[in-house]
Amino acid sequence: MEFYNYQGDSPVYSPQILIPVRMRSTAADRRGVLVDKVALITGSTDGIGFAVAQHLARDGAHVIVSIRKQQNVDCAVEKLQGQSASGTVCHVGKEEYCKRLVSMASAKHGFINFLVCVAGVSPMTWSTLGASEEMWDKIMDISVKAPGRLVKLALPHMENQASAVVFVSSIMAYAPVITLGPYNVSKTALLGLTRTLSLELAPKGIRGNCLAPGVIRTQFSQVPSPMFNSRK
Ligand code: NAP
Repeated sequence: MEFYNYQGDSPVYSPQILIPVRMRSTAADRRGVLVDKVALITGSTDGIGFAVAQHLARDGAHVIVSIRKQQNVDCAVEKLQGQSASGTVCHVGKEEYCKRLVSMASAKHGFINFLVCVAGVSPMTWSTLGASEEMWDKIMDISVKAPGRLVKLALPHMENQASAVVFVSSIMAYAPVITLGPYNVSKTALLGLTRTLSLELAPKGIRGNCLAPGVIRTQFSQVPSPMFNSRK
């Protein structure tokens, strides 16, 4: 574990805090440990989501990737060739797509072991006070409401089989940046959703966890902002 001073050298970061960051994982050979497990991952044809899919697949799980565009689903499944993977289109903000995704997984496998909610709205540069109603709705819908909905839909297929739900928050939940107002708020809300849902999920044998990555160079972090640009 190392400590990363998030204040950096830009005045936009506040407050100044030291955040523990796990910089590397152990090199233990875990291949095969997830054989017979099924992982459903949203926002998973690129970036962090695809990296998660690759790792779970390498460890033996069957991964179901999903995103809004069929072309990207096909491309991700192709890249996972040789491992157990399938995929489908899913707009996580639309209930009918979420229902279809969960139905597809349960019809094919009968159960779901891991639900990883990675899909997120690009952190466009709006302050909390400057953001429109529409922007608030979109960000809260995709980042907070959609993961909650997916858990609810997947629950009957996850109960009592050592399953896990994983959300993807952000370092912004702990160290907000002024220009990413609603995004910071949505990622903080996701921590609350994790804590609250974990209480409800624990008696059903399901763990609830939340990742809070720092800046990772993906399509997502190409958004023009002092925070992202300073890390390039
Ligand atoms: P990314 O590759 O751009 O991933 C974001 C994904 O979310 C995209 O694949 C996007 O797919 C998908 N998405 C957006 N709206 C969606 C919707 N309505 N339905 C389904 N999918 C949707 O970037 P990333 O960096 O890996 O980001 C993944 C997650 O990590 C996000 O939740 C982000 O907030 C979080 N995060 C990223 C960083 C970073 O520095 N990169 C840091 C902390 C946290 P489309 O092609 O359909 O738009």
